[in-house]
Amino acid sequence: MSGCRDIPLFAGHPRLRQSLSRAVLAELPTPVSRLRGLEKHLHIQRCDIKSDGFTARPFGGNKIRKLEFLLGEALRQKRRSVLTFGAAGSNHALATALCARKTGLRAVCLLAGQPNAGYVRRNLLAHLGAGSELHGYANPAALKRGALVQSLLESLRTGRLPMIIPPGGSTALGACGFVNAGLELKRQIDEGLLPEPDRIYVALGTMGTAAGLLLGLQAAGLDSELAAVRVVPETMANARAFQRLYLKTRTLLRQKDPSFRLAEHGMKRLTIRNEFFGMEYARFTEAGMEAVRLAFSLDGVHLDGTYTGKAMAALISDARNGDLKDKNVLFWNTLNARGPEAITGHRDFRKLPEYFHRYFEEDVQPLDRPAEAADSR
Ligand SMILES: *Cc1c(COP(=O)(O)O)cnc(C)c1O
Repeated sequence: MSGCRDIPLFAGHPRLRQSLSRAVLAELPTPVSRLRGLEKHLHIQRCDIKSDGFTARPFGGNKIRKLEFLLGEALRQKRRSVLTFGAAGSNHALATALCARKTGLRAVCLLAGQPNAGYVRRNLLAHLGAGSELHGYANPAALKRGALVQSLLESLRTGRLPMIIPPGGSTALGACGFVNAGLELKRQIDEGLLPEPDRIYVALGTMGTAAGLLLGLQAAGLDSELAAVRVVPETMANARAFQRLYLKTRTLLRQKDPSFRLAEHGMKRLTIRNEFFGMEYARFTEAGMEAVRLAFSLDGVHLDGTYTGKAMAALISDARNGDLKDKNVLFWNTLNARGPEAITGHRDFRKLPEYFHRYFEEDVQPLDRPAEAADSR
């Protein structure tokens, strides 16, 4: 249950332990295991999976690694609340709300519209249990008159503004969680749990995961290529924006500890993959849903249509093109792996702000319906 105190980022850089505040939220290291079904079916030399779904209870996934540093900083600054943003079904907003509660902070979430899916409903219901303050974002005019301003004014009165956490938690500080993840992987390679990957596949959203990971791999002296599979519009995730975040994170770490190792090859090992995005964010694709079905039927792994299915679709496509015959591949699974029942319970969606009722009253998108998807998680 308890989180992990000894993380490789701090073990290797004692100065960072002094200068970065970390809230211990994650159960680390996350497991690695082998995907023998996919290996055989797709003729991949070797394929492992890093399961970041187990980072926390009752809700894991990649966001917990970032939140350790973000909420650690909020606590250091003696904030009482955090304000963050996302889509209605945002895993980040839910993870933030649940982790904030664990650390005694209040979470206010501004959530925007998105295509409907089963996980949107589950995550929204889970917010009821997390005690989040939710606001629908689609109509900024309504927001202006609404409770958000009220709550900000209240914060002002008490002299404690909420700490603002950008979408996905993808600041340089948040990305430090994934610098640690790269070093964590190196430890697992040294322990013989897996070979050094020739290529790592990961979903690319707000980019904190991939940017931090790339730095962490380099700090660990690993030469793995990183295939970052874009699942958001190109205006949000692209090489320039990636480089900005990558350099900011590197600068932050170098400021906090001048001995932090700089990579020789910079961003050369990164490839941003654009072909699996589809029409829009959180709009499931045929290739993504085929990947969800394959991963589940061959190896019992649960993926999703918004992020990890699209990342796995890239891996599958490369394997089918014969690119992975002689490669050691690692799939970095960023999706929560804990059952949702514990947090959604039998809650009533009508207790949510009215803006969100549509997700329960309207149908989910076609590719998320059970007839089309063997597994609709
Ligand atoms: C947020 C998220 C991602 C993307 O991570 P970024 O750091 O935003 O790029 C990938 N997978 C899942 C399941 C996520 O919730």
